[in-house]
Amino acid sequence: MEKTKASWHAEDINAVMDALDAHPEGLSSDEAKRRLAETGPNSLPQPARHGFIVRFLRHFHNLLIYVLLASAVITALLGHWVDTVVILAVVVLNAVIGVIQEGKAERAMDAIRHMLAPKAAVLRDGKRTTVPGDQLVPGDMVLLDAGDKVPADMRLHSCRGMSIQEAILTGESVPVEKTTGSVAVDAPLGDRSGMAYSGTLVTTGAARGVVVATGAATEIGHISTMIAGVETLTTPLTRQMAIFSRWLTVFILTLAAVILAFGYLVQGQPFGDIFTAVVGLSVAAIPEGLPAVLTVTLAIGVQTMARRRAIVRRLPAIETLGSVSVICSDKTGTLTRNEMMVATACIGDAELAVEGEGYRPEGDIQVPGESQPEALKSLALVAALCNDAALHHRDDVWTVEGDPMEGALLAFAGKAGVTASVTKQEWVRSDSIPFDTRHRFMATLDHDHEHHVQIHVKGAPETLYDRCTHMRALDGSTLPFDRDHWHGRSEALASRGQRVLALASRSLEAGTTSLAMDDVEDGLVFEGLVGLIDPPRPEAIKAVAACHRASIDVKMITGDHAGTAAAIGAQIGLRHTDRVLTGAEIDALDDNALADAVRETDVFARTSPEHKLRLVTALQQLGYVVAMTGDGVNDAPALKRADAGIAMGRSGSEAAKEASELVLLDDNFSTIVGAVEAGRTVYDNLKKIIAFLLPVNGGESLSLLLAILLGLTLPITAAQILWVNMVSSVALAMALAFEPTEPDTLSRPPREPGAPILSRSLVLRIGLVSLMFCSGVFGIFWWATGQGLDEATARTMAVNTLVVMEIFYLFSVRYSYGTSLSLTGVKGTPAVWTALVIVTGLQLAFTYLPWLAVWFDARALNVAQGAQVLAVGVLMLLVMESGKWLQRRYALGGRGV
Ligand code: ATP
Repeated sequence: MEKTKASWHAEDINAVMDALDAHPEGLSSDEAKRRLAETGPNSLPQPARHGFIVRFLRHFHNLLIYVLLASAVITALLGHWVDTVVILAVVVLNAVIGVIQEGKAERAMDAIRHMLAPKAAVLRDGKRTTVPGDQLVPGDMVLLDAGDKVPADMRLHSCRGMSIQEAILTGESVPVEKTTGSVAVDAPLGDRSGMAYSGTLVTTGAARGVVVATGAATEIGHISTMIAGVETLTTPLTRQMAIFSRWLTVFILTLAAVILAFGYLVQGQPFGDIFTAVVGLSVAAIPEGLPAVLTVTLAIGVQTMARRRAIVRRLPAIETLGSVSVICSDKTGTLTRNEMMVATACIGDAELAVEGEGYRPEGDIQVPGESQPEALKSLALVAALCNDAALHHRDDVWTVEGDPMEGALLAFAGKAGVTASVTKQEWVRSDSIPFDTRHRFMATLDHDHEHHVQIHVKGAPETLYDRCTHMRALDGSTLPFDRDHWHGRSEALASRGQRVLALASRSLEAGTTSLAMDDVEDGLVFEGLVGLIDPPRPEAIKAVAACHRASIDVKMITGDHAGTAAAIGAQIGLRHTDRVLTGAEIDALDDNALADAVRETDVFARTSPEHKLRLVTALQQLGYVVAMTGDGVNDAPALKRADAGIAMGRSGSEAAKEASELVLLDDNFSTIVGAVEAGRTVYDNLKKIIAFLLPVNGGESLSLLLAILLGLTLPITAAQILWVNMVSSVALAMALAFEPTEPDTLSRPPREPGAPILSRSLVLRIGLVSLMFCSGVFGIFWWATGQGLDEATARTMAVNTLVVMEIFYLFSVRYSYGTSLSLTGVKGTPAVWTALVIVTGLQLAFTYLPWLAVWFDARALNVAQGAQVLAVGVLMLLVMESGKWLQRRYALGGRGV
């Protein structure tokens, strides 16, 4: 068997099949296993990661680090070796923490990418099955549908209306049409119409192809630069913070220069002293640990969402999700279970109740009269033949491979005595028109052994009514079609919340082997209607109620019938279900009229993907932040346009997944609400971290500024400040990254889109708390020196006061809106207590370990001094909580931070 051949496109398909020892009905499982062992998995080699040294050094390329390095050089020139070593140690520590957190965040994203690994529909042992994409081997017969990402390089065996977007390989974004023919050996990649290449996207049609190359042997595998790089961990918020830090650095440097000039030239202080003070001021004001903590918080958010079965494809989505104010959701499978069952069949004048459970093809059909009418058989035959799904029976459980609605039709056909084995033996399909949301029907051309040729059609009732001239009576005879009669009956079924599908057939002349659109335009015999039940998901009902509490609107946008949609909408608890806007009605409205209409409408029915795009735009025009779900290839533009595009992980096409920010592993509406809650929590935690860290820097720099301007001794040295910023603050702030969701998270309205994180109230709070830190540090230093304590002991008390105040402030900041003086508030979280134990241990080491004193010039404190330090912390908590109480009581300045 020849395995590596670059000219598959030039070979006839039969020659390709022979060369690969492949069969139209696929490989056997054993053979596939053997080939897999030989060729290896169908996956691309991992892009090489930069080595440790490069990643480590990258963290030195930063304005702040340059400032620190320059300070280190100058302190060394001045002979202040301790400061030099501490500053260098901080720089190295910063890079190490950076490399570690980056690694963690990348691993989190990798694990998630793995969860989104694509699947492929193949024929194995003659049956259609779904396998992970990396299990494909040369010779496999793969089935492709619109929206699929081609999983390996393939030579097409049969195809219908197939076009593929090959931009990833050719740069050409216009989809190219595919056929099964061969082309010249030297044809460029974009002209090889008989091939489908790995990584490209199927935009329309359906095809079967034989795998010719997998993994690194594919065209995409040859282009190693094409391999998607690691997604960077930045979001609007981290970028906002990066810009803030840059401005802060520039501001500090200017201030430092002014103070240096003032102290040296005006006050006449010795250069060494004033320079040390200025270095201290610079390191005090810069929040060294902040970027690392923010990134870790985002990575933790990604992991939390993944545990809740929502995979974030693009990191900024975490923040957007927190501000979503309307969720537009599909109905089938998202709000409902997508576990369908035919409950009613309407033939002639009769309505037959269908019994049974799940997809088991056994159960009673309540028929008027004794025997099963002929018409039921022909209805069941259409249901079974115009069908691409398969039922599997294992351990007494029946499951569907393919579309659940088609699975339900197979189960129904089985109950009417038309089982899969019967149809397979008696009928052969020679052509088909696949289902498309734009024409809303599917048709097949089938032959039996007696040379009968039949078209079998199923689709939305209104679509088929126009195409039918006759209808089948219960006894099997045909009568002229009565449109009004059937219209009334389909409306009645829909108003009961059933999904209504019409089935029809047509006989053609013997010998016909291909099916054209014209063949199904007219002359069909209406066989009957089936009503399928698809119950709402109980958790979706709860989630819709939660959205309403959180001031998030929920809109259902479905391709289903208006009556069915309204009935399900009401069951699910949507608000305005008395008014349904259909796709046709949307078409009749201009953009402004549509914007007016969408405000008061929650149910949109018989829509196409193009309507979704208009609806997103209209909602955005009204100022909503829109989350929109989608699964098909045509949903991609709407998903891209939405603020948060959400694709279905199970039933969604690869095209939809690639266009969205979030993928739901379980296709469940309640998962979206969980993700919104997680998004709000991440945002709250980022805010808490900022509210926690910035006042510490503010307090430190104010203390130093005051001391310099008043010509007093510095209450804390530069080395001590770096200790606090890099060790205590980071350890404590990290605990906030693990903060659980606050109880009222989903009863608050969404945050204003585009609101800066450093809101007025937050800036005010940072200013006030900075003053408190400054007073605490300065106060205790002043008090200690007043008591006659030496400078080093007074500084040790000041540093410890700063850290103790941080600890108490941490407890306060954990609740942005409520009091922290409650049992749960005091109990904290494991992360808080871990941080507390670590920081206390480090602070004791700082104070009492003689060899650390060499670096930080600390002195052992006695019990009384320790108690004074603690008292300042308690005072801080009491002041903070009184502030929050006043704010709640008089509703000052909004809600919390
Ligand atoms: P949602 O958009 O909420 O997922 P949906 O699944 O009902 O809703 P579509 O898939 O666009 O939306 O289906 C629209 C209509 O087309 C259905 O109500 C049904 O009448 C018809 N239909 C759906 N699937 C098929 C199919 N495989 N064959 C024939 N007709 C179908």
